[in-house]
Amino acid sequence: MINVNYVKAFRDNYIYIITGSSNNYAIVVDPGESSAVTDYLLQKKLQLWGIFITHHHHDHTGGISELKKRWPKVKIVGGAKEKVAIPFQDIYLNENDILETPLQEGQWTVLHVPGHTLGHISYYWASEGQEKDTGHLFSGDLLFGATCGNIFEGTPEQMFFSLQKIRKLPPTTKIWCAHEYTLQGLEFAIKVEPNNKKIKKRLSETKEKYSCGEPTIPLVLEVENDTNPYLRWDSPSLQNKFNVIGNDLECFLRLNELE
Ligand SMILES: [Zn+2]
Repeated sequence: MINVNYVKAFRDNYIYIITGSSNNYAIVVDPGESSAVTDYLLQKKLQLWGIFITHHHHDHTGGISELKKRWPKVKIVGGAKEKVAIPFQDIYLNENDILETPLQEGQWTVLHVPGHTLGHISYYWASEGQEKDTGHLFSGDLLFGATCGNIFEGTPEQMFFSLQKIRKLPPTTKIWCAHEYTLQGLEFAIKVEPNNKKIKKRLSETKEKYSCGEPTIPLVLEVENDTNPYLRWDSPSLQNKFNVIGNDLECFLRLNELE
């Protein structure tokens, strides 16, 4: 199994630090800044093997150069289709690429998920044999708690096809997103579906977590399927609301027009 830890950065970013159980290698995901990451790695005596970048935005890449100074052999991993270069990138990934890492656990698969940026990728980890409850998705700015990323470079249609790839993952998949947006997401979701009891329940649980300063990550895909309007294009409730019965894409597009 992999272990996932995080440090927080800026207002609401999560930077993930992934380790295995058989050696001291670590992978860092989307380091927008470096100091808290460096402190963590040194304190735990970890060797930084790789930096996984989901997309080129500065709040996901700003810490690369400092980390590379301290760990010069670190591999910088990112998508092959970004329009803006990722600093020091070594490995360029496409849809369905399999990534080997020295963590010696499970398998990393790449999902190309354009929309927020054109070359955005997400990293999906599963143990060999696909045992239950073992999948982890590092979704970057594609998907958040009860919402999805802003569409800056792609089209709403591209975002729809990207999110469809996520819906195909096992429902138990744990999702580690790059920002804490769950409360805002749910406040929008309850306006869209005021009678959805699962959204109501999650909203009150999330308010409770926020009041205790607790994070809402990891998200769980089956919870998102029930309460994230941006994954609910095929729900009768939303299709009725927009009067687009049987048309999933149109339902997603109409939802995007609401904001
Ligand atoms: Zn971004």
